[in-house]
Amino acid sequence: MREIEEKARGAYVERFGEEPQLVASAPGRVNLIGEHTDYNDGFVLPCAIGRRVAVAAGRGEGGLYSADFEEARPLGEKDSSWADYPRGVAWAMVEAGHEVGAFRAALAGNVPLGSGLSSSAAIEAATALALDELCGFGLTGKDLAVLCQRAENGFVGVNSGIMDQYASLLCEAGTALLVDCRSLEAESVPLDLEAAGLALAVCDTRVERGLADTGYNDRRSTCERAARALGVESLRDAAEEDLERLSGEELSRARHVVSENARVLEAVEALRAGDFELFGRLMYASHASLRDDYEVSTPELDAFVELARGFGAPGARLTGAGFGGCAIALVPTGETGQIAKECRQVFDERGFEEPAFYEFVPAAGAELAR
Ligand code: ADP
Ligand code: MG
Repeated sequence: MREIEEKARGAYVERFGEEPQLVASAPGRVNLIGEHTDYNDGFVLPCAIGRRVAVAAGRGEGGLYSADFEEARPLGEKDSSWADYPRGVAWAMVEAGHEVGAFRAALAGNVPLGSGLSSSAAIEAATALALDELCGFGLTGKDLAVLCQRAENGFVGVNSGIMDQYASLLCEAGTALLVDCRSLEAESVPLDLEAAGLALAVCDTRVERGLADTGYNDRRSTCERAARALGVESLRDAAEEDLERLSGEELSRARHVVSENARVLEAVEALRAGDFELFGRLMYASHASLRDDYEVSTPELDAFVELARGFGAPGARLTGAGFGGCAIALVPTGETGQIAKECRQVFDERGFEEPAFYEFVPAAGAELAR
């Protein structure tokens, strides 16, 4: 049993006075490449990270308990707390016709909250797997991911795509997950960074994503206008030659989406060939496109990517929607600390917030603890 699963189990025993019937856990994620492509029906390539949320569950009264917040909440109504995630998953299951019945659960996690590493998908996915096992539904990972997205959209009230839940439920250790956001088909792609002596360094710039909502909505509507101007259903259907029929922001935004989709598919080929050099170059190209054409980078994200380049990292880019949040770099195993040291100094000199760093290799998706 992982440490975090042990913590959830211990909390359950302490709270409810008996062993849980099961413990499930699920990871956060980073997106390796394929940014702002999801709502254009395109491709994304996330992988799971080595930080998880664990849910110990059983039948009986007592509701929900968070070991991290040291707080009990009833199963019941939405109250805009952490408990809305497990409640939302149970709600989505019932709404889909699955009889959940009374259960109780204790939760513990170590995915940083609100950093863009998707602790929300982790808590949903762990709950979904726990309830699936407890109730004997036998649903697939994809089914559970769709229910988790339904929970986040329909119960919690956050309008997210499917990527995070897919990654948390379907990823395997040493792999990335290619997701076609139109067909919702997903395919595992080898990403054995450990064997290549590499790891993913994550820099959380801790920048409040203040402009995120307006900026995000603005990019979405520009993409819709560009697709309409080209007479296609979405920019997924646009080709490079089509771009010359656009101008201004519609041109630059569409150029990012069209080139980014192509980069994801090329990145998948690179990974299948074990070509991390090419994969890394595509990461840098993705960052440049997000910075120059999509205009969603920040001075902090740019600074980290340039530092990584200076360190000789094969690839680096902002990850997530931008306007703050995280950037990633491909680095030799164990070198995150060195980059972090230099990065903290540069950020300090420039008056940026103090960043946080993590090092990951592609980890396992949702699992029952043994
Ligand atoms: P992100 O998904 O980027 O981490 P969100 O705001 O979408 O940020 O989700 C964070 C929320 O998920 C937290 O505020 C909390 O309600 C819930 N959550 C995540 N991890 C845990 C945990 N270990 N215990 C309880 N709640 C958690
Ligand atoms: Mg989230």
